[in-house]
Amino acid sequence: MLFHSARSWSTFATTTSGGNPLEATNRGTIPKMLDLTFYGVRGSTPCSCDATNGIGGNTSCVLVRGPEGDDPIVLDLGTGLRYLGNEMIGAVGEGEFAGTALVTHLHWDHVQGIPFFVPLLRPNARLRLVGPSQPGSDLETEIASFIRPPLFPVDLSILPCDIDFIEMSSGTIELGTSTVTVAAIEHVGPTNGYRIDNGDASVVYIPDHQQPVDGTLDVPASVVDFCRGADLLIHDAQYDDAEFAVKTTWGHSSIRYAAAVARASGVRRLVLFHHDPSHDDAWIARAVTEAQCLVGPGIEVMAAAEGLKLRSGIPSAA
Ligand SMILES: [Zn+2]
Ligand SMILES: [Zn+2]
Repeated sequence: MLFHSARSWSTFATTTSGGNPLEATNRGTIPKMLDLTFYGVRGSTPCSCDATNGIGGNTSCVLVRGPEGDDPIVLDLGTGLRYLGNEMIGAVGEGEFAGTALVTHLHWDHVQGIPFFVPLLRPNARLRLVGPSQPGSDLETEIASFIRPPLFPVDLSILPCDIDFIEMSSGTIELGTSTVTVAAIEHVGPTNGYRIDNGDASVVYIPDHQQPVDGTLDVPASVVDFCRGADLLIHDAQYDDAEFAVKTTWGHSSIRYAAAVARASGVRRLVLFHHDPSHDDAWIARAVTEAQCLVGPGIEVMAAAEGLKLRSGIPSAA
């Protein structure tokens, strides 16, 4: 059964000393693949109208499945999470959900789906929630602060599930057979990026990323190291150049900067993500064309869209 796991929490271990993600691949004889499904791809706020329905209107949420036996990993908990939960609940029995959420930061568009994730309404469900440290506070306190009356009908504590909050802004986590590397990313407020490596599979997730405010395309060495050689780079591509010019400090990247990160890091595929709610399907199609021109033929560019499924870990035929 897809989301059942008898694995214990003992498969989870962390280090805080960083480590080279390219060397942190895993062992054994099971196939080394990561399967991704996109449930929410928007930034800022959900949107829904005929002009955006091709890409989808829900905010950030991506499911990552490793080899059979590994618990699911969910990248961010935006409004797309509700649809993921609805699909999961058909596949799990009472109290059988166990998984890990890698939350980049606590802006609404990345956490708004939490109380609408049906598996958490089941007793004995277990969610490990990883997110950035909160200066002067803690992750659980901050999340509980918006899941309570009058902002929400009930308190977070009323949910019958077990949520384990884990704060970290650097280091590595072993999740089943995958190694997750955590890095602080420039945005507005404490923000993480995540890299998941499993054999030949490698996925980097940076949905919110502040481009240099002067509009230059310099990519910090730390970002290049984090993304280097990844099979899939899922990256903030919220603005075009004109939009960035009037929103330089809003914490995001232009399409041109997403392409610069991909090129500097030598990734194989670039997935444009965190689409602005004002951008319709036609706009995003043009963005893909523009980004493909910018990165050249050696990198494949695509737009994240709800329902998109990607696999990392299949060797290139070339
Ligand atoms: Zn965001
Ligand atoms: Zn944000």
